[in-house]
Amino acid sequence: MTKLIFEKTNENLNGINITDENINFNFIDNKYLNDCSDTILPEISELEVMRHYKELSDKNFCIEKGFYPLGSCTMKYNPKVNELLCALEEFCELHPLQDDEDSQGALKLMYNLQEALKKVSGMDAISLQPAAGAQGEFTGMLIVKKYFDSIGQNRKNVIIPDSAHGTNPASAAMCGFNVIEIKSNKKGQVDINALKAVLDNNTAAIMLTNPNTLGIFEENILEISKLVHDAGGLLYYDGANMNAIMGYTNPKLMGFDIVHMNLHKTFATPHGGGGPGAGPVGVVDKLKEFLPVPIVDYDGTKYFRKYNLKNSIGKIKAFYGNFSVLVRAYAYILLTGCGLKQVSANAVLNANYMMNKLKHYYQLPYDTKCMHEFVLSGESKKEKGVNTLAIAKRLMDSNFHPPTIYFPLIVHEAIMIEPTESESKQVLDDFINTMITIAKEIEQNPQEVLNHPINTPVKKVDETLAARKPDLAYKKL
Ligand SMILES: *Cc1c(COP(=O)(O)O)cnc(C)c1O
Repeated sequence: MTKLIFEKTNENLNGINITDENINFNFIDNKYLNDCSDTILPEISELEVMRHYKELSDKNFCIEKGFYPLGSCTMKYNPKVNELLCALEEFCELHPLQDDEDSQGALKLMYNLQEALKKVSGMDAISLQPAAGAQGEFTGMLIVKKYFDSIGQNRKNVIIPDSAHGTNPASAAMCGFNVIEIKSNKKGQVDINALKAVLDNNTAAIMLTNPNTLGIFEENILEISKLVHDAGGLLYYDGANMNAIMGYTNPKLMGFDIVHMNLHKTFATPHGGGGPGAGPVGVVDKLKEFLPVPIVDYDGTKYFRKYNLKNSIGKIKAFYGNFSVLVRAYAYILLTGCGLKQVSANAVLNANYMMNKLKHYYQLPYDTKCMHEFVLSGESKKEKGVNTLAIAKRLMDSNFHPPTIYFPLIVHEAIMIEPTESESKQVLDDFINTMITIAKEIEQNPQEVLNHPINTPVKKVDETLAARKPDLAYKKL
């Protein structure tokens, strides 16, 4: 059991020695200072501080440590050179309120990234401001609302398939829309008749992911976009699965009007653990004037921040977005260049390879060619008393991060696997073989499977208690 840093206290040891006599701490008047005499702080040497936090970080699972096939999250390799680039002094020390003429390099980078994302998405204008996919959705829904306000229509409904990510209905509801859920058909795609039944002059938008969260391409997308447009509605594209289609098609060709892209998924930025992301939003020409301000523009000689958009929804985030994430994404795009198409090709190939190997051992509810991810079901394993959660825990003992489980909701006991393009065949085979071993263990000795995990820093936890009554504070404080 790791001790807390407070429990490692060894009185009068110092983690840091400030020896610079030039530092004068007396510049703040005493009356503004807190009395810290009874503050409890850990007393521990500098070397031990370092070891303590290294030990904690070693307990973490991360992409640097093993395969991370978390469906929907695109946990791909993040080139380390990106970290070097976004940490360049010229970027880090730049103040966001600095004048345009003093920030030409950063503005040029943002402008070029906007242009690149326009190419990938097919959209006509981009805002880099939203901090994540979910905030991109929120931005998109605010644009939908303001657009209909501007043409004097009060449309109230946003249509969302039952396979959608939970952030879709949440974003629509936060903007005051009624969410209308439609069922998927037997192929795991939007049921056209169900869509027709709910479309009317109250339809503001439909929110779609394509490929959808089952990893299946909506083959009727052109019919869907025509139906929605004919009813006067807009189409919102949840771009979280863009990793599957880059260079092959884009949301503009499919008929979408608004798009968000998750730079931290598709364009390689470390994520997980809630770290910073970026969810740029792109729109078609007629919605350009509704984007959040400022956007970055170029007049042929200078890059500048543009604030005067006629119908702008305003600001959505402090300053201009998560700049360091933008630097990483831009570096990744330059690094791969036209190879973005190869990224998607390999992601799709890897997923189909794994799906076809694993479908003989686990149920595959939608047995069709997949895109960059696929969804198995652990339903039949429950007869042996082993559910999907137990399979996930068992995987952890083989040094694999479990896939996404129990999502999408329309698949019982869902196991959602996304290998990404960046893993070798060896790694994919290791994972496949482990999954096959687990399937055999479930047949032969299901009770044993339930004992896992045993090799992880934290063993089996009471999931309900951990969610409802998390015990996170150091009691002595
Ligand atoms: C990840 C994801 C989102 C939300 O994006 P965040 O960047 O995590 O806010 C939305 N939809 C789908 C399909 C996703 O996979």
